[in-house]
Amino acid sequence: MSEIIRIGEQVLSENNRLAAQIRSRLETLQLPAINLVSSPGSGKTTLLEKTLTHLAGHLRIALIAGDVQTDNDARRLTAAGGRLVRPIVTGGACHLDARMVTQALQGMALEECDLLIIENVGNLVCPSSYDLGEDRKVVLLSTAEGDDKPLKYPAIFRRAGLLVITKLDLLGTSDFDLLRAEEHARMIHPGLEILRLSCRSGAGMESWYGWLQQLALAKKAGSGAHA
Ligand code: MG
Ligand code: ZN
Repeated sequence: MSEIIRIGEQVLSENNRLAAQIRSRLETLQLPAINLVSSPGSGKTTLLEKTLTHLAGHLRIALIAGDVQTDNDARRLTAAGGRLVRPIVTGGACHLDARMVTQALQGMALEECDLLIIENVGNLVCPSSYDLGEDRKVVLLSTAEGDDKPLKYPAIFRRAGLLVITKLDLLGTSDFDLLRAEEHARMIHPGLEILRLSCRSGAGMESWYGWLQQLALAKKAGSGAHA
C-alpha cells in the first residue's frame, strides 16, 4: 500500500512540474487560463458554446476540450464559432493532466488569444488534484444534481475560484435548494464567489461574460505593471 502511495505522489509531483511550465509560458504570454470542472452533464460544453458565440469579436478564446472517448464536444465548440479548439481524447482517463495539456498547446497560436479555457473531463474527483497551469479552477453545479455535492466532493469546491450554478431554469422541478447548495459550498470554501445562470433562458449570462472579461483584463493589467 505504501508503494501505491509513493507512485501516486510521483505522478502528482511530475504533474506539478509540467503545470508550472505551462503557467510560466502563459504568464509570458499574459494569457489567463481557466480549468472548467464538473460532473458529466452539468452543462460545460453548452455554456462554452454560448460563450464563444456571445464573446466573438470581444474576446479571442482558445479552447481545449477534454473527453474520455469522443471529440464530439470539440466539434460542437468549433461549430459554435471557436476558431482555436483542440480536443484531448483521454482514451479512458477520467481527468486531464498537465502532460496532455502541454501536448494540446503545441502549435496553438496562443499569442493571438485573450483567454484559454480548458474543459476538463466530466468528473468532480481527480480533476481537483491535477494542476493544469490554470489561473482559476471553475466548478459547475447544475440544479439537476444534489445540493449536497459540495459536501460530498469538497476538494474541488475548496480549490475552485468560482462556482457557477447552471440550469437555473430547472429550479423547482426537483428538490435542489439553491440557497442550501450555496450554503454548502461556502461551508467548504468561505467567501467563494458564486454565479447563477441558465444557458436556456439567458438569466445570469451577462455576469459570466463579465467575469471572463474581467479576468482577461486583470491579467493584462497585472503583467503591464511588471513591464
Ligand atoms: Mg462536455
Ligand atoms: Zn481521474
